[in-house]
Amino acid sequence: MTKPLFDTSAIIGPGLIGSSIARAARAQGAVGSIVTSSRSPETRQRVAELGIADKVVATNAEAVAGADLVIVCVPVGVCGAVAKEIAPHLKAGAIVSDVGSVKGSIVRDMAPHLPDNVHFVPAHPVAGTEHSGPEAGFAELFENRWCILTPPEGTDRESVDRLAEFWRLLGANVEIMTPDHHDLVLAVTSHLPHLIAYTIVGTADELETVTRSEVFKFSAGGFRDFTRIAASDPTMWRDIFLANKDAVLEMLGRFNEDVSALTKAIRRGDGDALSEHFTRTRAIRRGIIDAGQDTADADFGRSHGHED
Ligand code: NAP
Repeated sequence: MTKPLFDTSAIIGPGLIGSSIARAARAQGAVGSIVTSSRSPETRQRVAELGIADKVVATNAEAVAGADLVIVCVPVGVCGAVAKEIAPHLKAGAIVSDVGSVKGSIVRDMAPHLPDNVHFVPAHPVAGTEHSGPEAGFAELFENRWCILTPPEGTDRESVDRLAEFWRLLGANVEIMTPDHHDLVLAVTSHLPHLIAYTIVGTADELETVTRSEVFKFSAGGFRDFTRIAASDPTMWRDIFLANKDAVLEMLGRFNEDVSALTKAIRRGDGDALSEHFTRTRAIRRGIIDAGQDTADADFGRSHGHED
């Protein structure tokens, strides 16, 4: 096996993403050793039982001491406080990164606390599931997914390259963009879809004329595909909408205009407008499959209890 990219690494917050990084980094020999820290004794015990780290500690300060790579994997809203807490304990020359789903606010919240002798390279692996916690993680989560790095201006090029190399070892493709551009792209590809899913599922839950059991029973008509997204972690998503307010409001404004246009087409019985729109969106689905970001299998590849 080749020499690890980093001798020692610290993963703060071994939840879905943090524990997946630990599993993948170990599987690929990307790091020599992994120390993780979590605030709750239950999570620490679970991580120890799962055996996904070399050491599990109670404080973030202890975790980062001596680490060459530090990855902060907690909800976006607490990244600033964690940066402040770890700053005095970081090793000179360490690379400090994160996995937050919003990047502008992360740079604003974390960068001011970090000392000049470390390299801050924010990152967002665009991969995940609706599950949370250390049990939910798995080593293959990042395979053939994108990891976006958003280094602030003036970041040491070598550190960016090393972190890119780390993510590639974990199976991801790497792209570099500015934090603001990242936030606009993710507002439309991730944040708006989550808001729509949260809305639809909430609307269905509040109907008086259709019962909840009818909604469950007939959900295969499309509704259940939204429920997967709407089951995502409430704390994580609260933080994302608070942190990416401007970009989400921009995309939501456009979305509302498009809903109005479709509403008008339905009211006027304008079949041409509807089929033109649906034909365009079908092509986007094909583009996603061609890009290897989903399967073309019927019903999203769902198993229906029989093996063919
Ligand atoms: P998760 O499974 O819920 O894990 C979150 C981790 O953060 C846990 O270890 C938790 O510790 C810790 N934590 C939560 N609140 C904290 C607080 N107030 N102070 C200190 N630690 C705290 O979440 P996740 O899905 O891995 O998400 C982590 C980060 O990844 C978020 O920033 C999210 O935006 C980003 N992300 C998520 C996805 C996704 O699909 N889930 C995809 C890409 C990026 P305890 O176990 O002790 O509560």
